[in-house]
Amino acid sequence: MKTIENYNFESKKALIRVDFNVPLNDKLEITDDTRIKAALPTINKILNDNGSVVLMSHLGRPKGTEQKFSLKNILPHISQLLDREVKFADDCISDNAQTMKKDLKPGEVLLLENLRFYSEEKKGDEEFAKKLSQNIDVYVNDAFGTAHRAHASTTIVAKFFPENKMFGFLINNELKNMDKVLHEPGHPFTAIIGGAKVSSKISIIINLLDKVDNLIIGGGMTYTFIKAQGGKIGNSLVEDDKLNTALEVIKKAKEKNVKLILPVDSLNADKFANDANTKITKIDEVDDSWLGLDIAEVSIKLFSNIIEKSKTILWNGPMGVFEMENFANGTVQIAKAIARATDNGAFSLVGGGDSVAAINKFKLANKISYVSTGGGAMLEYMEGKTLPGIKAIKE
Ligand code: AMP
Repeated sequence: MKTIENYNFESKKALIRVDFNVPLNDKLEITDDTRIKAALPTINKILNDNGSVVLMSHLGRPKGTEQKFSLKNILPHISQLLDREVKFADDCISDNAQTMKKDLKPGEVLLLENLRFYSEEKKGDEEFAKKLSQNIDVYVNDAFGTAHRAHASTTIVAKFFPENKMFGFLINNELKNMDKVLHEPGHPFTAIIGGAKVSSKISIIINLLDKVDNLIIGGGMTYTFIKAQGGKIGNSLVEDDKLNTALEVIKKAKEKNVKLILPVDSLNADKFANDANTKITKIDEVDDSWLGLDIAEVSIKLFSNIIEKSKTILWNGPMGVFEMENFANGTVQIAKAIARATDNGAFSLVGGGDSVAAINKFKLANKISYVSTGGGAMLEYMEGKTLPGIKAIKE
């Protein structure tokens, strides 16, 4: 298989699907350029080989052509990071874009306009993908965040490069780190799954039951597990149609000898607000009309002990409503426990939008072995699903 490492891009034109879907403020300035920086190793390798680069990405959720989602807004920043001029095609498949691709010289970079200005992109339209593929020698997918979508630029376009397609460094890295956790974890292996709902995490939980020694559950979904076992949860978040699912998970964990650890105490609030009155109770004794919004001290100690004895740690989903300062402590303390375990030699992988946001907010990213860039994509890979964008390259 051709790889980004062993391929010689000399005089080749590479079409790279990048994820430049960066957050912008009201003035259309980039507030976090992590995603652009993550693509630099791939772009620079191709340029250093004396190849030329065509970049394609989506930005935001435009309905048709909307200038506030134009990639032209981020062109100067890309140019600055690459330390060279970047040309811009104001339509990703027009005749003009084709001419610009054709005329591109070694060492030159061209950015195509937002792919999602065309509805064909998300539909995975083949004609649209074919136009993207024209005047190009090699296709490189380095957009992990969209690898779980069968879009034209992430999946369909690959079929026009049967001999010349590969992952970029970022996707390679994501796969290497996720595979390490899924297929060759050091033991004990502890997964910490939090967040709002059982329904959105059930597939990953089921898949992990075959792999982990410890499964720690936290966050809003806790209360569905507690109610299912007859506990009192007051007004806490609950999915009444998932009570049986929760019992099923408890049963499966027992069968598979997985230690399932639920919080034992709860930090409760009398309303869903940062300035609510608070009270700590046992996890299954939340008073009527109160809601559990975070794990409390005893749970933090219990979880931290297990985490610090682990050799592999996977974390997805916050332990409480960490967006509110008064209910962030559980998530902060668990993040810190993972950082300490990592310091002591454990391998830790954190992924999924909110846990990554938490890690960044608490400035702990450099204390984690690997922080995944893909929210939904990471979750689906960990669920054991085949991601269309990954399959399209491997096949
Ligand atoms: P997810 O996207 O499923 O990982 O869920 C993340 C969201 O879960 C965050 O916005 C948290 O505020 C929310 N969350 C975590 N714990 C609780 C809780 N105890 N009650 C309500 N929401 C929660």
